Amino acid sequence: MDGSRIGDAQNTEESLLAQGYRKYTGEDIDIYYNKDICAHVGNCVRGNPAVFEVGRRPWIIADNGGADDNERVINTCPTGALKFIRKN
Ligand code: SF4
Repeated sequence: MDGSRIGDAQNTEESLLAQGYRKYTGEDIDIYYNKDICAHVGNCVRGNPAVFEVGRRPWIIADNGGADDNERVINTCPTGALKFIRKN
């Protein structure tokens, strides 16, 4: 699923927060996560366990991965529970 948008709309911080996503700030990319949508399929954890680690607080650390790789992993999320906004 395309992690850069919801439906036809490009992600904005305002729209993501309004829809219940929580923000995990990174230097080059912010990651957003909505626990109500997550189906716990685990693609994210398998995709990069340094960034996505269940049980850690915070469980997402964006800067533990490169922005391009974070984008790649987020796009493997089948439910849309993960979104991103690239910076710069
Ligand atoms: S890939 Fe998406 S649906 Fe699966 S565990 Fe990660 S956030 Fe949840």
